[in-house]
Amino acid sequence: MRFDFSAGDFTDLDTLPNAPAAIARDGCLSWSELRAHASAWCDEARALGIGPDTPVVIRGHKEAAFFVALTGCLMLRAPFVPVDAVYPQHRLQSILDILGAHVLYDAAQAAFQPLHGGPAPVMQEKSLCYIMFTSGTTGQPKGVQIGRESVQGLIDWMHLDFNLGTRPVFLNHTVFSFDVSLYDVFGTLSLGGSIVMLDRDTAAAPLKVAALMLEHQVSTWVSTPSFAQQQLLNAAFNQSALPALRTFLFCGEPLPVPLARTLRKRFPDVPILNTYGPTEATVATTLLRVAPEHLAQDAVMPIGRAKRDSAVYCDAGELCIAGPHVMRGYLNRPDLNASRMFLRNGERGFRTGDLGTQTPDGMLFCHGRMDDQIKLHGFRLELLEVDAALASLPGHRAAAAIALRRADGAVARLVGFVETGRADGLPAELAGWKEMLASRIPHYMLPSELLACERLPVSVNYKVDRAQLLALYQSLNA
Ligand code: AMP
Repeated sequence: MRFDFSAGDFTDLDTLPNAPAAIARDGCLSWSELRAHASAWCDEARALGIGPDTPVVIRGHKEAAFFVALTGCLMLRAPFVPVDAVYPQHRLQSILDILGAHVLYDAAQAAFQPLHGGPAPVMQEKSLCYIMFTSGTTGQPKGVQIGRESVQGLIDWMHLDFNLGTRPVFLNHTVFSFDVSLYDVFGTLSLGGSIVMLDRDTAAAPLKVAALMLEHQVSTWVSTPSFAQQQLLNAAFNQSALPALRTFLFCGEPLPVPLARTLRKRFPDVPILNTYGPTEATVATTLLRVAPEHLAQDAVMPIGRAKRDSAVYCDAGELCIAGPHVMRGYLNRPDLNASRMFLRNGERGFRTGDLGTQTPDGMLFCHGRMDDQIKLHGFRLELLEVDAALASLPGHRAAAAIALRRADGAVARLVGFVETGRADGLPAELAGWKEMLASRIPHYMLPSELLACERLPVSVNYKVDRAQLLALYQSLNA
């Protein structure tokens, strides 16, 4: 059995209906069970007024019911809005408010929660498949609206160019509120495979990850490179211990050449795919099949070439993307849509904010950001959003965060600074700063230290000067 995305229904009903579809910490569903549960979910949703173009916020963490709800939304053509339980209530509430959502689906309880008695809101943009909220510079998350046509393009691309085999078994490590996880969701559904969902505790233990991979014969590894790096702690993370593995599919951050080399040694026959792209262009836009020549150099790993139906090019040093997989726009953010989106030959385009280069034969490279967006352990975040959360601490002082990087350029942790007018330590009212921040922003955005500074240094254009803050941090730790 598999799920036909364009028909919005299950198909090939007689083919292996008892094969596993979803494997979660709280239970497993075969394909026929997934079909039955998703149909029942749709009945319940319809009774609450949910239908085409009604956004459904799904909250939870890797429950089988989360996957059922995602499938149900595809059947109803209701855009899903995944919010992992790692997000604090404050963040969830901002998302519900931005959407005007009237119900929330709580996957942990496998139940809908009505929020207000009004009618179900209907999105202005029609035929959206999902809305993914990412970190926003204003301190509010921004909703990336992705149309069904864009997802169809992703599915077609995976079928044509990823070579994942029949009924692949996906390792789903990424939370559903990060779009890399949609490789697993759409790959499983459209290829009639299975999804093995790793909850946070399991994901933190490389031995457990490998044991689950072996038990369920995982064939397709999908993650950020950071997560694969962690597995190298396990000496038995290799091809002879995990013979079913047939693809490494990376996305979300630069693939370090040394990591790719180690994987090649440990898994000599497993192809490594490096894909690149912002959430705003439906999971990924470029693909590189890592070859020996990419491992034999010490410079940055190329990101490959644009997917078939899209164009990727550099304009004034910035990577730009055009094609049907570019978002329909940020929800209710005409300002951002005007500055980041454009039309090219009648197709939607997006300025990524990534520094790029392209060789004469078309190979693309990404050289980091032009702004304060960073990746920390695979999570995308805006330093300006952390600044805004720091500034909400008692006393409402000016505040800023800096990213401390390792030698290879990857961000290791964040440090926050608050302006106190004096340089003799944090005021007593900030003693509980970490808990206060954790109620506002996700755990991965939390600085590991908070320091007082007399005045926040500013640059000539009166923006916080993070380079000077970094120098200050280094002088304090010299
Ligand atoms: P996200 O929207 O969370 O997928 O993050 C997108 C950003 O992550 C991109 O704009 C890049 O800055 C970075 N990124 C994603 N994939 C890659 C890659 N394969 N190589 C280098 N940077 C990447």
